[in-house]
Amino acid sequence: MDLEQLKKRFRLKGDYHTHTVYSRMWFYLHGKGRVIDNVRAAAEKGLTELGITDHGPWDFYGLDIKRIPEMRRDIAQAVKEFPLVSVFLGVEADIVDSPNGLDVSPEDFGRFDYVNAGYHYVPHSCMIRNWLSFHIPFPKAAKEKLRRRNTDRIVKALTHNNIRILTHPGDKAFIDEHEVARVCAETGTLVEINVRHRHPDAEDLKIYASYDNLFVISSDAHKPENVGRYLKCLELALEAGITPDRIVNIVDQ
Ligand SMILES: [Zn+2]
Ligand SMILES: [Zn+2]
Repeated sequence: MDLEQLKKRFRLKGDYHTHTVYSRMWFYLHGKGRVIDNVRAAAEKGLTELGITDHGPWDFYGLDIKRIPEMRRDIAQAVKEFPLVSVFLGVEADIVDSPNGLDVSPEDFGRFDYVNAGYHYVPHSCMIRNWLSFHIPFPKAAKEKLRRRNTDRIVKALTHNNIRILTHPGDKAFIDEHEVARVCAETGTLVEINVRHRHPDAEDLKIYASYDNLFVISSDAHKPENVGRYLKCLELALEAGITPDRIVNIVDQ
């Protein structure tokens, strides 16, 4: 099936991982659109569900927890204008060395409709070593040690918290895919296939598919025009042998 045929047969019903101007550092806007811009884009593309999931608070571009009420107000306003889209306030928490393994505390966790989690280059996440491991030749033993530590942190984050989506596993941190696949299956965490990142790639996805996992395709849009992008990832999933019925936001029409 070519992309046009795929688009006709399979549509995306919801995009549960998008960023807005609440992902920012001082005056630098990491996410380019406002909440309403993402909601409008979702409505125009025929999505019925949308997640606003800005970066966790320890991220360089992380949201400010104090602004949650403002985010809720923006969502309520946007839904008035685009009532056909159900909009959720989520967060893309960082997997870090903290008591619950996230940069979102247990107290703040319930203030979001759901919490996604993933690795990023942020403090308390072996940031420098992880960055270097992707950019320079890295001694094998050191890389193995880092892989072990990254994997342990994911296991901790997923078993201590009710995480909806593990975002772009294998990107920004080397991991043991088999172990991560197993813990996603055990905890019912959705494995993300991410439009913006190189991992998981087809080889990684074959490993995840060999466990009892469900998947989700996310645009990870940082600009409104990218909300709802999915075709490239659907093609990748099919290439890896994942049937569309295992992707929770794909509708076979
Ligand atoms: Zn991310
Ligand atoms: Zn993201």
